[in-house]
Amino acid sequence: MSSKNPVHIIGGGLAGSEAAWQLARAGVPVLLHEMRPVRSTDAHRTAHLAELVCSNSFRSDDALNNAVGLLHAEMRRCDSLILRAADANRLPAGGALAVDRDGFAGFVEAALEAEPLIEIKREEVTALPPADWASVIIATGPLTAPALAEAIAQRTGIGALAFFDAIAPIVHADSIDAGKVWRQSRYDKSSPGGDGADYINCALDRAQYENFVAALREADKVAFHDWEKDTPYFDGCLPIEVMAERGPDTLRWGPMKPVGLTNPHTGYRPYAVVQLRQDNALGTLYNLVGFQTKLRHADQVRIFRTIPGLEHAEFARLGGLHRNTFINSPKLLDSALRLKALPQLRFAGQITGVEGYVESAAIGLLAGRFAAAEAQGASLTAPPATTALGALLGHITGGADTKSFQPMNINFGLLPPLPEGTITRANRGEKKPMMARRALADLERWRGAAREAAE
Ligand SMILES: Cc1cc2nc3c(=O)[nH]c(=O)nc-3n(C[C@H](O)[C@H](O)[C@H](O)COP(=O)(O)OP(=O)(O)OC[C@H]3O[C@@H](n4cnc5c(N)ncnc54)[C@H](O)[C@@H]3O)c2cc1C
Repeated sequence: MSSKNPVHIIGGGLAGSEAAWQLARAGVPVLLHEMRPVRSTDAHRTAHLAELVCSNSFRSDDALNNAVGLLHAEMRRCDSLILRAADANRLPAGGALAVDRDGFAGFVEAALEAEPLIEIKREEVTALPPADWASVIIATGPLTAPALAEAIAQRTGIGALAFFDAIAPIVHADSIDAGKVWRQSRYDKSSPGGDGADYINCALDRAQYENFVAALREADKVAFHDWEKDTPYFDGCLPIEVMAERGPDTLRWGPMKPVGLTNPHTGYRPYAVVQLRQDNALGTLYNLVGFQTKLRHADQVRIFRTIPGLEHAEFARLGGLHRNTFINSPKLLDSALRLKALPQLRFAGQITGVEGYVESAAIGLLAGRFAAAEAQGASLTAPPATTALGALLGHITGGADTKSFQPMNINFGLLPPLPEGTITRANRGEKKPMMARRALADLERWRGAAREAAE
């Protein structure tokens, strides 16, 4: 290990392993603290770094038509260890990037162990790092050990660290049928900067509402893991299917209450309503307010498309409820993933409020690069917002609404739309490939500029 001060990384999962690799490759020493096997989590089964706790898939590998495929392509161009390990251990899975999980984790671990600049310590970090750890990346994931989680919660303040997620589905704004919905806030109330018409409203008549409630009651639910059952969240934010089971009117008294709203298409107050609220600063994404759910994804799509105005909705993210540890990143972090109140601390991975193996590793990659530039007295600008890496980073460090912040997958709705007029009826199918090509070209420019700045 070099005599230079190391960057300390806490957690050797997807994000921590990727960050360590990026730092070492940039010539910066790393001390990686991983608690397994001394202490494990409820989901991990092995002592390997970068263990995949559930599925063995990194999802679609189609860079031109799928946002996570685009993220793969960008990460490969940034010499990602996680993508290198995935490619080396790839299994047949159609258009998806699926891996042999033991081969994958073994590859990552061997690569990090072989790096002379990386030291791996198997120990739990139980408190916020001491002051002499000048640069730290916290990448302890959705199941951060309790003592450290408690210390983070105390440092970040009440409500800034969540122990579970309650994810409502999000739709692409341009897939909502504007002819059926209307914009209005309840009682036309205006928020600061709003105009009394902040919400998109979908009206349901009595028959539509009753059918909707019946569909929720009949649908397949995803069971909680045993170790999730004691998580104290269910009373505060019940899944909509649980509300539907409590009684025929429970939803109409809850998130679907129609008070303070008039449907301009009928001139009357609707029987029930689904409200959608803007989810990102770009205004490309809207969430279904209060619609956290544990329904199976296929059932969510089928049932939510019965809501008038959402018949052709394209979902950027579907709902979920899980035990999950994540901070309110848009409020707490600066654009280089540092805690504003204690800039020696960076966060990376799922704890920053991204969702998924690939997204967690992507934020690890960026945290590693930011920390490496800092250690070398250089500065690194964030990747452009038009790239998947830049869009994901921008969402969690500013683009997302701090009040309703919930974990997010990469999706094309996070990227700025193409210039007006680029997409017409005739070339609609080209929208994603055009955004992807723009992303890859902009990423190359960013990489070139970063290389020049480092020289
Ligand atoms: C049960 C479950 C299933 C999931 N399934 C999927 C899925 O199928 N597909 C998907 O894309 N995503 C899934 N996720 C979400 C998420 O993408 C993964 O959890 C991913 O591993 C997150 O990467 P990470 O590096 O942020 O955290 P992790 O990979 O969990 O790594 C964090 C590491 O930090 C260590 N650690 C924790 N606390 C401390 C401490 N105090 N000191 C030292 N070390 C510590 C842990 O042992 C762990 O190795 C799942 C999450 C959970 C909880």
